[in-house]
Amino acid sequence: MEDKLVTIIANSKARLVPKKLSILSLSKDEEAILLNKMNTYIKYIINLTLALLLFSCATEKPVNLSIAREEVKQYYESGRFDKELSKVIEDAKEKFDKVEFKNNSVVIFDVDETALDNYGLAKEMDFGYVYEMNKKWNAEMKAPAIPQVKELYDFLLAKGAKIIFLTGRNFPEYKVTYENLKRDGYTTFDTLITQMDNERDLSATEFKSKKREELTKRGYEIIGTVGDQWSDLNGPYHGIQVKIPNYLYLIKD
Ligand SMILES: [Mg+2]
Repeated sequence: MEDKLVTIIANSKARLVPKKLSILSLSKDEEAILLNKMNTYIKYIINLTLALLLFSCATEKPVNLSIAREEVKQYYESGRFDKELSKVIEDAKEKFDKVEFKNNSVVIFDVDETALDNYGLAKEMDFGYVYEMNKKWNAEMKAPAIPQVKELYDFLLAKGAKIIFLTGRNFPEYKVTYENLKRDGYTTFDTLITQMDNERDLSATEFKSKKREELTKRGYEIIGTVGDQWSDLNGPYHGIQVKIPNYLYLIKD
């Protein structure tokens, strides 16, 4: 019996249900037992393979930080980032083309790494984060518009959408953010929302969701959200989600 099982397993090529058991002239009971054993054996192999895969992932060594930094830099500066972003924007335009725009239709845009580009600052900070440098950069309104996102903004305005900017920047930076947006071509928008002191305990997702809910209660219909972090896009009232790529940093929820 066991010899037959070994033979079948060797010839089975990992089929869950082997095709040629009948050639062994087994009784129905024997065949049922063999099939049961084979299924157990194959499941064991599958589980073992999955375990080995997980083990190899867990023990894989991380990429050297200098190499990772250089890879990101090359991705942004070689044009590959722009190409990826252009595709995202083209896809978004196709989706918005299928939407009916009403008087109260609004699209919510995030600011940093969505409307405005802080890559220059990231490079100055050697892809780390220095609070004072970030503050100075914002105060001096050094961030240019991201051309592809500006193109989407123009496209949506032309279709009759209203635009609202919603950012995790704090209220003391309201004025410089407002002026930076205006200076770089985002001249038409209903409002810019920054984070107030009493909202600092909220997670990014909670803050942005809360604001979208308030806007909806005020009568807006949010038909889309555009942001470089999933915390810009997740939660209620998001409409079409346009995820702008960002390889510089990740904001945790
Ligand atoms: Mg952002």
